[in-house]
Amino acid sequence: MSEVTPPAGAAPETVFRDGLAAGELRFQRCRACSAAVFQPRVLCPACGSDDLAWHRSSGRGRVYSTTAVRGRDGVHNVSLVDLDEGFRMMSRVEGVAPDRVLIGTRVALDVVEQDGQPVAVFREELS
Ligand SMILES: [Zn+2]
Repeated sequence: MSEVTPPAGAAPETVFRDGLAAGELRFQRCRACSAAVFQPRVLCPACGSDDLAWHRSSGRGRVYSTTAVRGRDGVHNVSLVDLDEGFRMMSRVEGVAPDRVLIGTRVALDVVEQDGQPVAVFREELS
């Protein structure tokens, strides 16, 4: 239903970045064992199959872990988000103070521009 058909021979990282540029969070699902696969790869890390299909994520998930990182430019947030399709990605939660992000918070994808590149971030989901 949410399957994406990339150009033949496209590198996994390219398919992913093309998705972000189109405002989509793309991930792979193994046709052999059904595992959700992220980061983009050539082989399924669960069973070794190379039969990976691309899908569009709903972009909805839950904060699995979160850390406020203090750097020269101030504090920013690094969070691991469990997407509803069953994969986990490192990102950040925006729209809330970096040290006020709570584990378990429902979040939704937002694609923002950073240094000229589209980047996947998350915001608290409005219920
Ligand atoms: Zn597999």
